[in-house]
Amino acid sequence: MVPGAEEPDPKGPTSASASGVSPLPVRALRREAERARGWLESGVWRPDAADAEAAARVLARLTAPLPRRGAAWARARAVDRDRRLQRIWRSAVHHLDAGAVSPPAAALLAAVARAYVPWYGTPNPPPAAAAPRYPVPSGSAAPEGAAAHGAATRDAADRPEAPPTDAGEALLPGLTDVFTALAAPAPPGTGDRYPAAVPWRTRYAGHLRHYGRPARHVWTADTFRCPGCSNADGPWTVVCDWRRVTLGCPCGLTTDRHGLTFSEVFLVLPDA
Ligand SMILES: [Zn+2]
Repeated sequence: MVPGAEEPDPKGPTSASASGVSPLPVRALRREAERARGWLESGVWRPDAADAEAAARVLARLTAPLPRRGAAWARARAVDRDRRLQRIWRSAVHHLDAGAVSPPAAALLAAVARAYVPWYGTPNPPPAAAAPRYPVPSGSAAPEGAAAHGAATRDAADRPEAPPTDAGEALLPGLTDVFTALAAPAPPGTGDRYPAAVPWRTRYAGHLRHYGRPARHVWTADTFRCPGCSNADGPWTVVCDWRRVTLGCPCGLTTDRHGLTFSEVFLVLPDA
């Protein structure tokens, strides 16, 4: 079981703790992990080489041991724990956006990335002002406008509240099971196959930003505008089958030529 797939536990990742730490956004993860588990167990999904390779890389992050530290290193230990979770986030986003995996693998990687999004800037914040910033998960006490990109909100964004480390670590055993199955070599004589990903459709009012990285520590950020009417605010009708994302504008234009990656679309949407 993925821990988050169980009924909400008073101390679990789906509820805010007494310390004010945000709950993890795990609704998509519960759904996708359960689907993946069922497909893999039934043989409906026999991962191809690209899926198995990406899964093995993420699995290495999920199962990475923490560095050995003495008792005097409690502070470093806390950073080690968050760094391990941050590497899971980065690995999931990297393989999601690299475009090599199958649609069901992309759905699973996106759900992992969403669950671990509180670690996108912790412990190492993005080194440039234009680097990607994702919304603080709902339920947090973040100041209004913290997800915006103006100078006035930089300080708040640069000091993210403590991520829910215990809740993030509680997901590791369940995810390790799923990714171990996904990374396993196919039985001899069987070809790869995968189920059709379940497409989704939603409405999103807000900006969608595409991030470029022309050089190390240099980022660019462009807000997508409708090529028909230059609207940048939506509300967009977002349709995704994990092969492509199409955006529908209120003016009637629909396009998949927006240049946005899966993560740039999926991670700004509410968890559902
Ligand atoms: Zn338009």
